[in-house]
Amino acid sequence: MSTDAPAPGTGQPSTAGLVIAIDGPSGSGKSSTSRGVAARLGLRYLDTGAMFRAVTWWMLDHGVDVHDPEAVAARAGEPLVESGTDPLTPTISVDGVDVSVEIRSDAVNAAVSPVSAVPAVRARLLELQRAVAAEGDIVVEGRDIGSVVLPDAPVKVYLTADPAARAARRALEEGGSDLAATEASLLQRDVIDSTRATAPLVQADGAAHLDTTAYTLDEVIDQVVALAEAVAAGDAS
Ligand code: C5P
Repeated sequence: MSTDAPAPGTGQPSTAGLVIAIDGPSGSGKSSTSRGVAARLGLRYLDTGAMFRAVTWWMLDHGVDVHDPEAVAARAGEPLVESGTDPLTPTISVDGVDVSVEIRSDAVNAAVSPVSAVPAVRARLLELQRAVAAEGDIVVEGRDIGSVVLPDAPVKVYLTADPAARAARRALEEGGSDLAATEASLLQRDVIDSTRATAPLVQADGAAHLDTTAYTLDEVIDQVVALAEAVAAGDAS
């Protein structure tokens, strides 16, 4: 990472060039926190979960059996995924089609973890994710960002929260869907994501663990921004 001296006149450490990796299970507050931190620090934002969801939507749309890893691997090179990195209006498209709404469907929720466990899918998206992150000035969120995608990121955060709090947040995001069904769905994804052979969900070496259960979103953003600014200040001194 290269960080500049404190921004003139502000007394604040500059976060220019900074890369922040934020990982954690579904509903831990990753997306809201990552977007808030990026907006606060003037950084770009990459939602890697949306990329896996976009590939999953494409597989379903093309009639690929998402529970057949070989069938998924055989088509993994085909979908062209593009992510917009403005934290205020993140976008996701596949083969030029905006799929921001479609990737949040129940069908995608149910299929995304098996598709994401296929090494060929991960290899393709890993390349894309690193290419987007290469210019720096970015918050990247996912499951394996600090451990596999960007292990040298100077700021790594691992967010967790109690399952009930996670389900409540996710149900609210999804427009008040059934709480028990939401909790069951995300716990099922956790098990697959944490136990897969390739790039499982883990707390990366050097990641700060933050349990967000008892905090408001603003408080969590404050904590991550403080961590990023401390790293930037340390680097500039
Ligand atoms: O973050 P989100 O809940 O949208 O992610 C959806 C799914 O995408 C996860 O449950 C996981 O299976 C997969 N994923 C992944 N690696 C990432 C990001 C997401 O495997 N870096």
